[in-house]
Amino acid sequence: MPDILQPDICVIGAGSGGLSVAAAAAAFGVPVVLIERGRMGGDCLNYGCVPSKSLLAAARHAAAFRHAADFGITYSRPTIDFARVREHVRGVIAAIAPNDSTERFTGLGVRVIAGTARFNDAATVAVGDDFEIKARRFVIATGSSPAIPPIPGLAETPHLTNETIFDLAECPAHLLVIGAGPIGLELAQAFRRLGAAVTVLEAATPLAHDDPECAAIVLDQLARDGVAIRAGVAVRRVAGAGRKVQVVVGTADREETIEGSHLLVATGRTPNVAELGLERAGIACEPRGIVVDKRLRTTNKRVYAIGDVAGGLQFTHVANYHAGLVVRHALFRLPVAASSDALPWVTFTDPELAHVGLTEAAARLRGIAFQVLRWPYHENDRAQAERATHGHIKVITSPRGRILGATIVGHNAGELIAAWSLAVSRRLNVRAMATMVLPYPTLSEIGKRAAIARYAGSLTRPMVRRIIALLRRLG
Ligand SMILES: Cc1cc2nc3c(=O)[nH]c(=O)nc-3n(C[C@H](O)[C@H](O)[C@H](O)COP(=O)(O)OP(=O)(O)OC[C@H]3O[C@@H](n4cnc5c(N)ncnc54)[C@H](O)[C@@H]3O)c2cc1C
Repeated sequence: MPDILQPDICVIGAGSGGLSVAAAAAAFGVPVVLIERGRMGGDCLNYGCVPSKSLLAAARHAAAFRHAADFGITYSRPTIDFARVREHVRGVIAAIAPNDSTERFTGLGVRVIAGTARFNDAATVAVGDDFEIKARRFVIATGSSPAIPPIPGLAETPHLTNETIFDLAECPAHLLVIGAGPIGLELAQAFRRLGAAVTVLEAATPLAHDDPECAAIVLDQLARDGVAIRAGVAVRRVAGAGRKVQVVVGTADREETIEGSHLLVATGRTPNVAELGLERAGIACEPRGIVVDKRLRTTNKRVYAIGDVAGGLQFTHVANYHAGLVVRHALFRLPVAASSDALPWVTFTDPELAHVGLTEAAARLRGIAFQVLRWPYHENDRAQAERATHGHIKVITSPRGRILGATIVGHNAGELIAAWSLAVSRRLNVRAMATMVLPYPTLSEIGKRAAIARYAGSLTRPMVRRIIALLRRLG
């Protein structure tokens, strides 16, 4: 006979979204059950953000010697001990893991159950034959998995995904990457800088969701690093065994075979719903993810879906944002409405590519009147001191100056986007950014200069000239 549990909230999946809901609910003294079938911490900690950023950090150190001479420092080519790089990545995961551990959550008062959750009916979730959970509310936070495209030969050919690539004990001689989205390109740059030859194959446009002008700066740096990016090529079939992989690309009349030692598939994500028994609970699902309303409720009003499985923007901070909304709605009955208008995202290549709000293309598509403000990194003193002059900011404003969006490409863009996220979410006017006092010399001044650019030319306007003359007369 299974144990019957009757908590207020049952959370399925202990990744970024699920852990946030469970921790918040427990902090308010609400009985919570949290079910996890794999590793606590989910994709972000184990197979996503944390290992990829740790690998990129190692890669940045490996690449630093190339520019050291510009600063008057020379050292020879680095020796890369890939097994130790892997240890570094594992060490970072291990350092963060206690925050997401069963021990910590049990200590917070959460009942953590290891196993795969599936709905038995609209109000019951089972974990094997051991538990039946009849909760007041359920939160599905089961995340996503790498989407494996139906390429002939792929199933029989050894290939890597984000779930296996961080386990490699040696650096690939030649890594072939299918997919030039953020995940494919971050890993392409990391492995190139750590010594692999890297070829990226993309059927459409690399970094297709980003401002093309800014994405071009990232792609240019990748090319300088020696990453070969082939855009607009369809992969027709793959084959291989051991340390030999052949990828055939081309069109009907022309085919080309590209050979490598390892193959990474980074062609998007698919929601983790297969084992949930959604149909038994009356929960509708589309290929992109579980169908949710603006409160993140599924078609079964007792059940919410958050994070990657809800099919919107797939980032850790989005899963956390969703978790906050669900806690407010499910526990406190507060009105909430999920919106992606002010959700930033960052591609952590070097240079970084960061974005929030409307892009220029999206503004054009909406047919709204808008203005583009820009400022280049090379006009910034700190960027000059750091010799990090490649990049720029692009700000989209309404004709009256309301900040609608910003894209930054360049050194530390992921940090610099924070102020613009606040500006977009708080509907600030660009005047606020133009008049803000910032420490000198910092890269954040790049954004301020873009904001001031809106007023360039104002001095020639008759009204402004009259006001300045009046102020002078008044002393
Ligand atoms: C290589 C890579 C790099 C990334 N880098 C970044 C980054 O830099 N910044 C960023 O914001 N985002 C990044 N992401 C995206 C980020 O990892 C995800 O958006 C985030 O992890 C989603 O959180 P989640 O809670 O929805 O799902 P997850 O974190 O994936 O957690 C879902 C959990 O549910 C469990 N589960 C699934 N089904 C069941 C079931 N039936 N029963 C019980 N448990 C179940 C899974 O085992 C998993 O642990 C990256 C992703 C990848 C792949």
